[in-house]
Formats: sequence, C-alpha cells, structure tokens
Amino acid sequence: MFIAKRASQLTLSLHSKRGLSSRVSGVLSALNIPFNKEINGVYDGQWKGSGEVIESICPTTGETLARINTASPADVAETLTKARKAYLQFRDIPAPRRGEILRQIREGLANKREELGALVTLEMGKIRTEGVGEVQEFIDICDYAVGLSRMMNGRVVASERPGHSILEVPNPLGVVAVLSAFNFPVAVYGWNLALSLAAGNATVWKPSPTTPLTSIAVTSIVAEVLEKNNLPGALVGLVTGGQAVGETLVGSKEVELVSFTGSERVGRIVGQAVVSRFGKSILELGGNNASIVMPDADLSLAVPGVFFGAVGTAGQRCTSTRRLFLHRDIANEFLERLKKLYAAIKPGDPLEDDTLLGPLHTSSAVKLHKTTIDYLRSIDAEILFGGKDYDVTPYANGNFVQPTIAVPKSVDMSDRIWSTETFAPILNVAIFNELEEAIRWNNAVPQGLSSSLWTRDLRNVGKWTGPSGSDAGIVNVNAGTSGAEIGASFGGNKSTGWGRESGGDAWKQYVRWSACTINFSNEAPLAQGVNFSLD
Ligand code: NAD
Repeated sequence: MFIAKRASQLTLSLHSKRGLSSRVSGVLSALNIPFNKEINGVYDGQWKGSGEVIESICPTTGETLARINTASPADVAETLTKARKAYLQFRDIPAPRRGEILRQIREGLANKREELGALVTLEMGKIRTEGVGEVQEFIDICDYAVGLSRMMNGRVVASERPGHSILEVPNPLGVVAVLSAFNFPVAVYGWNLALSLAAGNATVWKPSPTTPLTSIAVTSIVAEVLEKNNLPGALVGLVTGGQAVGETLVGSKEVELVSFTGSERVGRIVGQAVVSRFGKSILELGGNNASIVMPDADLSLAVPGVFFGAVGTAGQRCTSTRRLFLHRDIANEFLERLKKLYAAIKPGDPLEDDTLLGPLHTSSAVKLHKTTIDYLRSIDAEILFGGKDYDVTPYANGNFVQPTIAVPKSVDMSDRIWSTETFAPILNVAIFNELEEAIRWNNAVPQGLSSSLWTRDLRNVGKWTGPSGSDAGIVNVNAGTSGAEIGASFGGNKSTGWGRESGGDAWKQYVRWSACTINFSNEAPLAQGVNFSLD
C-alpha cells in the first residue's frame, strides 16, 4: 500500500523538514501521505510508477505538495492486462455481493470524509465545504449503487411466437476507463466507479495530471476494501499521467467503455478515437450555462442563486453560470443587488471555513481570465464589476482573480464571448423583453449542459421545460445552474457530449445488453411468419 502506516506525529515532523507549510503538512499527515520521497501514482494491485515525475502544485500558495511517479507505457499495458484478469473473476460474483463491497467502500470514504475533502481543497483549490461535498457525493453514489446492485434488472418481452420468451439481459461489460477533469477530482470518479463496480466491471482511472494526490488517496481507500475482501486490486486500477497515458487508454481495444470528462476540445478527439475502434464512450464535456430571470421572479432567491452559480468554485464548475439573461423590468435592480454580493466576497485560503472564494486551479487559468477580459474590453463591453487583479490576496503566489460581471454590446450568440466556455468567473449579461427571446439565446450556443429559469409563473415553467424550451440536459426552475444531486442522471446535450452519468438510467451504459430468445416449445416457428421449409 502506498500510504505507510506510521505515527502521524513522525510524519508531521518530517514534513516540516521538507519545508512544507503547516497548512499543507496537516492535511497530508491526516491521510498518512508520505512526503520525503516520490509517491507512486500507479496502482494495479501494487503501487508503482516508472513514467515521468510530475509535481502536484497548491493553487493557493504555489507550494509543491508532492512529486508523483506517473505511468509509463509499460505500466499502462500491465494495468490493463491485470484489469482484464480481475474483471474475469469479478463478473461472476453476484451483483448484491458486489454491492456489499460498495457498502464497505462507502464506509471507508465516510471515515475519511473531512480529511479527503481538505485534500481536494488543498490540491484543487475549491473551498472546504465544496471539497467535503465532493466526497459526500461519492458516498451518496455508493449508497445508490448498493441499492442498484439488487435492482440492475433486465426484462421479459412478449414474444409473438408461441412457447417463446424473450429476455433482455444485462451482463458485466468488461474494462471501463475513467478519464477525469481537474475540477471534480473525486465525484466524477465516484459516479463512474460506483456504477461500474455494481455492474461487475474492472475500472482504470486516469485523473487530471494536476490532481494526482487526490486520486492516489481515493484509490488507496478503495483498494484497502478490496484487499480486505481478497479481491484483486486491479479492479480499481489507477494510472496517473498526462495526455499520452489518456491516449493509450482511449485507443486500447482492452477498454470496452471510455468515460471521459473534460473539455470539448479533448472530448472531440477522444470521441472520434473511441468510435473509430467501435468502442463505447460517455462524454461529459464543457458547459456554457445560462440563467434567465423573469420579471415575476423572487429576487431574494434569484440573486444569491446566480451569485453562487457564477462565483462558486471560482467559476470552475462545468455547470457554472456564464450567461445571465435579465428581463428589462428587473435588470437594474437585479444587477445592483448582485454587485453588492460581488463586492462583499473576499478571496482567501479555501481551507479556512469562512472563505467563499478560493484561487483558480492553475496560472494558465489566470491568464485565460485576463485575456478574456482584454477581449471584452476590445469589443467595448461594459465591465460592471471586477475585470482586474486583486491588489491584495492572501497569498502572493496564489491564482486569485476577481470575479467579473460584463455586459457585451452585442447579443449575437455566435460571438466567441457568448459561444465559448471560459473556465473562470466571468458572467456575461444581456437584457431581454420576451421569454422566447431569452430561450432562443439559451439554445443558440454549441453547448447544452445546464440552464435555469427564475419565475413564479406556471406558464413560463411549462414553456421552459417543454418542446420549445431549454435544450440543455439540466433544466432547472428557481434553482441555479450548478449543484446537481446524484439521483437524476447528470449530463449535457449537443457539444457537451450527450453523456449521462450518476443516477437515473445511467447504469445501463455500464453493462452489455443481450436480447435472448428462448424457445421452450416443440416447434421452431420463424418470426414475422416467415416460411423457410422444404416441405
Ligand atoms: P481537459 O480536457 O484538459 O482534460 C481532461 C482529461 O483529459 C485529463 O485527464 C487530461 O489529462 C486528459 N487528456 C488530455 N488530452 C487527452 C487526449 N488527447 N486523449 C485522452 N485524454 C486526454 O479538461 P480539464 O481542464 O481538466 O477540465 C475542465 C473541463 O472539463 C471544462 O471544459 C469543464 O466544463 C469540463 N467538465 C465537464 C463536466 C461534465 O460533467 N460535463 C464535469 C467536469 C468538468
């Protein structure tokens, strides 16, 4: 096991020898993460890693948290071979027994909920309550999958032929590769792992190269449960690394299903690569989400709802609110109230309980924020709030940016300011007169992940959720664009990739479906009355 079981006090004193700040050493020690040597970032039943060494960098302080041995091509190949072997064993274990394994994984995660949440905060940069919330989401989907393990039912279909039954049967699929993005370094893997394990598959995870520590800590907890149950660790393989590791998994015929979460740019490459070898894929790609506020909306709900959607996670959720369409009658009042909230939020260490705004994940995201604001200025957009760097931030080397509200002059949704997902806290505003106009704008971008309407009028709700309404995968009313629960299937339409994960019917993608016609009669009639007899 990668985590040496040692007294945390010893770990703490050695941390300080390496010069880690106490805010870092406290979080790492709580998970027994070693610090005085490179950490192995590959797991296939054993911890190893013979590829390049990458560093995990804290977005708040710029500190190097750890150095990770990533997967070499040989490591990836071996992990896949072992995953296949593990699958061949695991697929014959009855689903409710697999559910029992998930129940234990749930317990393992719950025991380390706060510690893991703090690690997410440290490595990804989201505030602590959201870091812990992500682990809670993994716990929730484990609960869901435990129940599911007794309900992954096929069905009996009426046959047109006498003495025949047709069964639709779900069986385990094989090896599932999970490629995940930096911004949800726990939950997205959890959604996939829970359903994949319940379905009887082996899973190989390639996390974002910028959140390797979190993936190692999560895998360690899950692997411990498998070890205790004498199951092969290769059921939950981990291959840290960058693009090359991802490409190998995506291109491998040993992988039946690729579940990819990330940008549209990479998703397009991944989708094409998987389809070219007739593999299965689930694509969860970028969003460009809008909130629409009607004149009858309850602004005491809508203003904070939009505020959380746009500024929460420093604008780094796939479901973050990026476009705001305000009805002319309430636009001024809404913006005044929203600006007050923006002015009140202070950047801070996301590990502190009262911080609501942490850093962006990387320095390149800070550059993206700046170039997007430069572009807004170049098209004469009005910058209502933000648009500058903070004069004072808690950490000089942190990736802090000021959340920004802008009103572009044009409402041409094909302009890149409207049609592109900028993964930073920039909210673009437009004013409309009729709901139909706002729905048209909502639907006029390539992406189709999340959307929200604020209204108290039932007629608006009907329009919004009906055939002429929002074309997104998530269509909310009086609830913001971000903050989904695990019970419903999660995902977006159009260039967001049409993927669905987590609840609902998402599990059906993780199995191999067979239609089985069983003849228990003494005749062998053909369907549709076809006659193929020499008599
Ligand atoms: P990214 O596309 O840069 O990377 C995602 C993953 O793909 C990483 O693990 C990366 O190493 C890997 N990768 C990169 N190139 C690859 C290649 N050629 N082949 C295979 N794998 C490759 O995304 P990111 O910056 O980590 O995450 C942010 C993006 O993810 C945003 O667009 C966000 O909207 C999206 N996202 C979507 C959802 C959703 O559910 N729809 C959820 C979270 C994030």
